[in-house]
Amino acid sequence: MSERIGNTFVIQEEAAQQCDLCGKIAELRPYGPKGECICFECGMKDEDGTVKRFLEVAGLNNPPKETDENAGENPATNQGQK
Ligand SMILES: [Zn+2]
Repeated sequence: MSERIGNTFVIQEEAAQQCDLCGKIAELRPYGPKGECICFECGMKDEDGTVKRFLEVAGLNNPPKETDENAGENPATNQGQK
């Protein structure tokens, strides 16, 4: 479950479910092209779109900067992925 506690938006790990795009059982995020719940791998197939939706879901409207500095960082991954 993800929930808002006070002024803090808490993202907790969720139970594994079946990916809407590839069918894999994994921890899913609602960042599919049409709001599907998708796995990390599918998210990374459309990284730009996933980042955009991640920001929308998180309530942030700042578009991701396209810089080489961030090449090794995926905002969609820092939610408890190990
Ligand atoms: Zn998938």
